[in-house]
Amino acid sequence: MEYIYESVLDAVGRTPLIRLTRVTQGISTPVYLKAEFLNPGGSVKDRAARHMVAAAERDGLLRPGGVIVEGTSGNTGIGLAIVAAQRGYRAVVVVPDKTSEDKIAVLRAYGAEVVVTPGGRPREHPEHVSQLARRIAEETPGGWFANQYDNPANPQAHVDTTGPEIWAQTAGRITHYVAGIGTGGTVSGTGAHLKRVSDGAVRVIGVDPEHSTYGGGDGSPYYVESIGHYRHPDTTEDLWPESYHPGVLDAVERVADRDAITLTRDLARREGLLVGASGGAAVAAALRVARGLGPEDLVVVVAPDSGRNYLSKYFDDGWLRRNGFLDGDGTRPVLGDLL
Ligand code: PMP
Repeated sequence: MEYIYESVLDAVGRTPLIRLTRVTQGISTPVYLKAEFLNPGGSVKDRAARHMVAAAERDGLLRPGGVIVEGTSGNTGIGLAIVAAQRGYRAVVVVPDKTSEDKIAVLRAYGAEVVVTPGGRPREHPEHVSQLARRIAEETPGGWFANQYDNPANPQAHVDTTGPEIWAQTAGRITHYVAGIGTGGTVSGTGAHLKRVSDGAVRVIGVDPEHSTYGGGDGSPYYVESIGHYRHPDTTEDLWPESYHPGVLDAVERVADRDAITLTRDLARREGLLVGASGGAAVAAALRVARGLGPEDLVVVVAPDSGRNYLSKYFDDGWLRRNGFLDGDGTRPVLGDLL
């Protein structure tokens, strides 16, 4: 029977497409949101976590009783903690010290061990989250470093699941695919599949915070979490992740923090969709793209996780004010020219 699963891992994916109806006023192109926040762990990263572990088991890198190690403050850690719990592994998640207590509590609730390291280290520093995770994996018997940034099973998860789902859900009518670039796994894998099945017709558009380097920014800091590539001022090594395949993309849309946050709030208040700011940024870009299209086109945009992860940030007026996002009469963010 449908919707009955043999384990939580079978409940990952097959997320709905939800049409945006109010923030799309004045736009004739249908815009559908891929609701990745409905995955069991609350984000798109459940897909990558399940695939990376399956590949490591297949390749003999992870054996019964083994230890999954990853460096992340966010959704990948949760996805891996779920897979570890269900498949009987230990999970060790290294997080920077700025990570909220709530996020750490979620990881611990799934039984993961959390190691806290000072944040803001350049990539080659031994205390950098990824470097420390790699070392813990090497020094722990049975340890395996998941390494989402450079693990081919991360984009492959989207070649195998997200891409085929979107193609089937739209009956091949999708013309534009829009997704944020973090590790690059989602946009690269889904985009590659959609290009292949459409003989190159689907346009693939990555979304990047304005200052991030994927879209040509200088790498200076920005607020939107989980997407973009920040260039540490002390770094000597500034490589893009291997999970990102820029050749798959037709364009990168750059979105200012203010526009991403505005859309994030409007999606909650006007569409009833509580998504994180990487989803808000992606929708801001998707609306920009859709404005230049017609009714025969069809846009799909990814919302990677839920706004519940950010209630004390983008949805909190005090946070907005402290960070300079509230002005005018001080009651709501300036809408920019989006709506
Ligand atoms: N948004 C959120 C909230 C995420 O957790 C991630 C994963 N880092 C992304 C966007 C980007 O996805 P990807 O790593 O597949 O590029």
